[in-house]
Amino acid sequence: MKRARQSYWEDELYSQQCDVLIVGAGLTGLSTALFSKRMNPKARVVVLERGVYPIGASTRNAGFACIGSITEHLADLELDSENQLKKRIKARFNGLHLLRTTLGDQNIDYDDCGGWEIFTDHTEFEKASHQVERFNNWMEQLIGEKEVYQVGKFEGYPAIFNWVEGALHPGKMMKTLIELNVKEGVELRWQTAVKHIDVEKGSVIGENGEQWFSETLVLATNAFTNHLSQKKEIKPGRGFVFVTSPLKELSWKGTFHYDKGYVYFRNLGEDRLLIGGGRNVDYDAETTDEFGINEAIKKYLINYVNDVLTLPKGWKIDREWSGIMGFTASKSPSLEKIGAKTWQVAGLSGMGVALGMALGKSAAERL
Ligand SMILES: Cc1cc2nc3c(=O)[nH]c(=O)nc-3n(C[C@H](O)[C@H](O)[C@H](O)COP(=O)(O)OP(=O)(O)OC[C@H]3O[C@@H](n4cnc5c(N)ncnc54)[C@H](O)[C@@H]3O)c2cc1C
Repeated sequence: MKRARQSYWEDELYSQQCDVLIVGAGLTGLSTALFSKRMNPKARVVVLERGVYPIGASTRNAGFACIGSITEHLADLELDSENQLKKRIKARFNGLHLLRTTLGDQNIDYDDCGGWEIFTDHTEFEKASHQVERFNNWMEQLIGEKEVYQVGKFEGYPAIFNWVEGALHPGKMMKTLIELNVKEGVELRWQTAVKHIDVEKGSVIGENGEQWFSETLVLATNAFTNHLSQKKEIKPGRGFVFVTSPLKELSWKGTFHYDKGYVYFRNLGEDRLLIGGGRNVDYDAETTDEFGINEAIKKYLINYVNDVLTLPKGWKIDREWSGIMGFTASKSPSLEKIGAKTWQVAGLSGMGVALGMALGKSAAERL
């Protein structure tokens, strides 16, 4: 169908000046919008999203409400300073609290189940368990909770339990957040892909030629940010997840991490297993913002389910999908002004369920 030229009347709908214009309706963009509107109820806050619903990471993640396993923290210390890592752990803990209190535990199926890190390599386990006291001291100092990490066993594997973690339903999380935005007067424009931005003028051009102007433009496009701005590089990273059909009984109850957080799995209810990760198996191929399934990673996770989780023969994959994360070099998200009228809030580095809402709120406070 040939695209109709915009009418005089349609200017009222589409070509108006906004106070705050946000590109990307993921958890970060919608949280920026919600808190911007709450801080300034008279402001016109508009969110532009390319999909009929958000299509990046927020609706495609695994739903772990986590602050990090010990081997993940140790790996992060190789990328970043102790000080920065401590800040991030605190931000994850506080971010989850903000998310839960803003949306309501019952609306997002929050499950206070804690999180296990399991080990198949005894040396790795010894190394991590020697760090338990150190990280428990950190936690007491950062979040005021004692004995957060506890050494134990799960299904015969040496393990470390973290009682402050949990799980949630990402679909319900985003549905509740969308409804809250609409209720509070944020304007959402679906199927509006942005093709070009002017960071100095705060204007954008959509793929059908529509133009938007704003006092403040916010890029909340996470992994896809480099298509619109190259000012602060965000590296994409694809993640793979699959869910099994209901099993007779799944003894793995709760949430689990393995190998620095590269593999994660949980019992979804109905005794279905969700498992994801394995990006490190084919790291270069997964440094992409194209959705798709990497067969080598799928095979690695299937073998993991058979050999480590020892699910009874005959289990089946019911659903599989990929999502795209955005990484910064240090793994700390970027919240920066990248032009006279433009902010970038991206690079949640695979921790966005915990960090996304709080980052959006900080962005709203800074605008
Ligand atoms: C497989 C997987 C598992 C994960 N598991 C967890 C987990 O268990 N716990 C956890 O804390 N984190 C997890 N994460 C990370 C978490 O989901 C992300 O960090 C978080 O959702 C990022 O939110 P965001 O809003 O910044 O980005 P996104 O959700 O990616 O939102 C960006 C939005 O921008 C839109 N967009 C992009 N370009 C344009 C354009 N040109 N015009 C208009 N719109 C555009 C996209 O369509 C998208 O909706 C996981 C991620 C993946 C992929």
